[in-house]
This record gives sequence, structure tokens and C-alpha cells, in this order.
Amino acid sequence: MIDAFKPEYLQYAPYLSSLTKKFQWGELKMPLGFEGGMETFFSGKSDKLALLYKKENSSLKFIKYFSFLDRFGKIGRLAADCLINLPRFMKGYALFRTGNIPLNRLGEFEFSVRKPFHKIKGIKYKYIGDLDVIGHKYGTKSKEIISAIKKVDINLSKMKFDIILSDHGMIDIKKTVSVPETEECMIDSTFARYWGKKPDFDSKDGKWIKIEDRKYGEYVFLANPGVLIFPNYWQGKTAAKAMHGYNSECTDMNGIYIINKEGNKKNLEVEKLHKIFVEMKNDRTGNSSQIQNGGFE
Ligand SMILES: [Zn+2]
Repeated sequence: MIDAFKPEYLQYAPYLSSLTKKFQWGELKMPLGFEGGMETFFSGKSDKLALLYKKENSSLKFIKYFSFLDRFGKIGRLAADCLINLPRFMKGYALFRTGNIPLNRLGEFEFSVRKPFHKIKGIKYKYIGDLDVIGHKYGTKSKEIISAIKKVDINLSKMKFDIILSDHGMIDIKKTVSVPETEECMIDSTFARYWGKKPDFDSKDGKWIKIEDRKYGEYVFLANPGVLIFPNYWQGKTAAKAMHGYNSECTDMNGIYIINKEGNKKNLEVEKLHKIFVEMKNDRTGNSSQIQNGGFE
């Protein structure tokens, strides 16, 4: 899985391009948000909109006693992240940084992700994260991303695979918008999520959307593609140059997939690719049972 590989990057990836000439491949449409795409690929569905959701009695509740760490800048945050991740590390859960979410409020939230995908039994999963990091930092047209794509392409050419895919695309930031901070909010980079009271705020640079699962936000403002909510709880002084997490109808949010089977181009939704994945896995193992969601929750 190549994090944040968008279809237009193929022009800098001779190996991957050569695969698209003979194998089944296409653009991959992913669900809205940040964490649901790969979960949908593996399990067929996902209710995850973002990394953090509101939860009473969260496992992060204790962190409010350490909110004094907010006074110690980066070192304070590093200490807080260690405290938060130590129990997760013991349980074999995925580890996360917490950006600059105020520590006196972080304890009202819970992580939506537990076990990482490479722990799913019966598959070999390789995660390649460079293009996401470099894309955010330098943008999708930068010389840095082009050289990173070439490196990833060379590395992939040395690996065997059944499915290569990316979890979303990326779009360059053209504009930033600032949103109000309330007592109960989570300011992600493309979403601003509120609970309790809806802030008196509106902007042409985004719209208020309805989210079914209110634990991810009772009032959710989604920025338009190319607009970054800034300041936000994840980036410090420097705004990202490119982002994902916009409306999934925006084709710049599409990832790609390539299946190791002869065929042509066909754009797919990730739910369909999940079915293909399950069939491939069952063919391989002779097992007709579905992959259980609980495998990685
Ligand atoms: Zn990213």
C-alpha cells in the first residue's frame, strides 16, 4: 500500500506504468475522511471518519492530569505522546502523534484505530508512507515528490505483489481558512468538528455536512478541495502544502489499484476492490470464509 499515491504520479513511475499496460488497474474511489479507506479494503465497510472520536471514559482520560506539558512546547508534546502510546505499544496497537490538540481536551477523545493492518492474519501487508509525508510537506508537483515517486517505483519493482494500491490521492493547497475553536471541538485539517453547540460560523470555502455517526461530530464543517483549515490541531506553525480528506467525489482524492492479473483499466470503488481481494485470498487458501472485521479492530 503506497500511502497517498495519486493516479497522475504514474507519469514519474515507469515500473508501475508498465504494470498498468498489462494488468487490471484503475483509479480507486475511497470513502470520505481519513481512516476508513483501508479498513473498507480489508473488511468491506468502515464507520471511521477520522482518527479521533468523542468518547466518555476514553482510555486517554488520564492525559488531562498532564496538561501542564502543553507549556513545554515540542518536548512536552513528545512526553505526552510517549505516555499515550506506551499502553498502545504494549497492546500491539498502532502508534500516533497527537499534533497540538490541547491536552486538557484530548482526554475526551478516543483513537478509532487499534491494531495496524500488517497484523491481519493470513496476509502480507507492506506500508509505504514516504509519499504522504513528502506530498504534505512539498506539494504534489514538487521536485521532492517526483524524486520520491521514482524511488518508491524502483523499490516496488523488486517486490512480489498480488495487489498494489494507494489509500487516497492528494491535492495542493490554494488557500487556508480559519475556523472558531469551541469548548468541544476537533479541528482537523479538512474537517472542523463540533459537539454541543454549533458555532456561529460559515464560509464559502467549505460547507456544513451531516455525519451519520455523531461521535465523529454533531456539526461538521468540511473544507472545499484545496482549502486547508489552518490553524488546526495537527500542523504547528507551517501549513501543509497539500492535503487529502476532502469530498470523495473530487477525483484528486482517488487512489490507484493494480491487480496481478492480466486485464484492462477499470475505475473502482474500494468496496468492489474488497470483494476482489477476498476472492483472491480465498482462491489462494481454498477457504470460503470471509475475513473477519475483528481481525484488526
Ligand atoms: Zn496524509
